[in-house]
Amino acid sequence: PLAPTAHLKTKLKEVFGFGQFRGTQEAVIQNILAGHNTFVIMPTGAGKSLCYQLPALVLPGTAIVISPLIALMKNQVDQLSAFGVNAQVYNSTLTKTEMNRVKKDVIAGEVRLLYVAPESLTKEDTIAFLQKANISFVAIDEAHCISEWGHDFRPEYRKIRGIIDNLGGKIPLIALTATATPKVQLDIQKNLHMDDASVFKTSFNRTNLYYEVRAKRNTKKQLIQYVQSHKGKAGIIYCLSRKKVEEVAELLRVNDVRALPYHAGLDPHTRMNNQDAFLSEDCDVIVATIAFGMGIDKPDVRFVIHYDAPKSIEGYYQETGRGGRDGLEGNCLMFYSYDDILKLEKFSKDKPVTERDNARQLLLEMTNYSESSVCRRRQLLHYFGEHLDTDCGFCDNCRHPKEKFDGTEHVGLALRA
Ligand code: ADP
Ligand code: MG
Repeated sequence: PLAPTAHLKTKLKEVFGFGQFRGTQEAVIQNILAGHNTFVIMPTGAGKSLCYQLPALVLPGTAIVISPLIALMKNQVDQLSAFGVNAQVYNSTLTKTEMNRVKKDVIAGEVRLLYVAPESLTKEDTIAFLQKANISFVAIDEAHCISEWGHDFRPEYRKIRGIIDNLGGKIPLIALTATATPKVQLDIQKNLHMDDASVFKTSFNRTNLYYEVRAKRNTKKQLIQYVQSHKGKAGIIYCLSRKKVEEVAELLRVNDVRALPYHAGLDPHTRMNNQDAFLSEDCDVIVATIAFGMGIDKPDVRFVIHYDAPKSIEGYYQETGRGGRDGLEGNCLMFYSYDDILKLEKFSKDKPVTERDNARQLLLEMTNYSESSVCRRRQLLHYFGEHLDTDCGFCDNCRHPKEKFDGTEHVGLALRA
């Protein structure tokens, strides 16, 4: 039986403060409430979290949310707590005492959502605890981590299915991802034994994002001008290396931009503080390696800059997707040079042959995208198997048609050879 729509709408308003469901959210929620396995494929910023958060409030028991990053769990739990929802994390950041308190609260049925790291989930102690809990469903966020073809493969994700089978009873699963490639989608369904799942897939067209590629020339000057023209607005700048992250953050700071670095080389405390500063608007710009951003919910990011070329279209799409999540303006600027592509190619030179070929292929696609004069959106959507009937009119190639890419003389020769 379907939950009355009015009731769900009331919850949506009361708890989250939203007047309307977005896209297929309501259909997804009904499907979960009916106890079916559910597979949600929606672009970044579409509002996937709500698809499991709201049913978790309605169903008896605790919803388990598997999430790949501690920062991501913290982000969601902080938000839910602010909405007055009892949500908890269960991961390595907790002390023994805190763990025991969380366990007690879950078993007492007081916790609506429990966010668990895949590493914690594989521990015997955790499994024994979850066997005692009343679980409403298991949500697997960032489900592409299960696939080697995805951009963030996490081996522990492969164990999820086996562990859930061990918890007893028939627990509905909901897998969520912003990965649009069919190969990864198949992998997810296969690994989670979710062939029977209802699939909810929406278009990957992010109409409010403006895509632009510029040649990497006088990049520092271009960067400063660009950022200063968005003064006081939130932005993310991606760089390839930790060293570059530090340099660019410093460059912006001496130019009066409130910028902070974020990369895996910083101690966890500093990293967390810098992320919090960005989320709470104590800093405007975060300069980061790709370690930053998965699942981070900051709705008002107005620009995403790739200071160095990304490794793949998929990665590029995910990273730019962090802009304009509130549906308002989002500017995606990439600085491109073929030298960057060659640098990236060198990274995989010691990898096994198949991995190297795979990386090369992804880079070739990235090169083609960057150097092409075809509508950017058309190219991106094509990559994800979608067809755009007309050019978008909202990218650099549509706005400023050019004869050919003028960024480098030796365009793509080495890779194409
Ligand atoms: P995803 O996981 O799909 O990348 P999120 O779940 O983080 O996206 O949601 C992105 C943004 O959309 C968040 O700021 C969230 O609060 C907002 N959002 C989600 N659902 C709605 C809705 N029905 N109405 C308005 N805003 C929404
Ligand atoms: Mg998400």
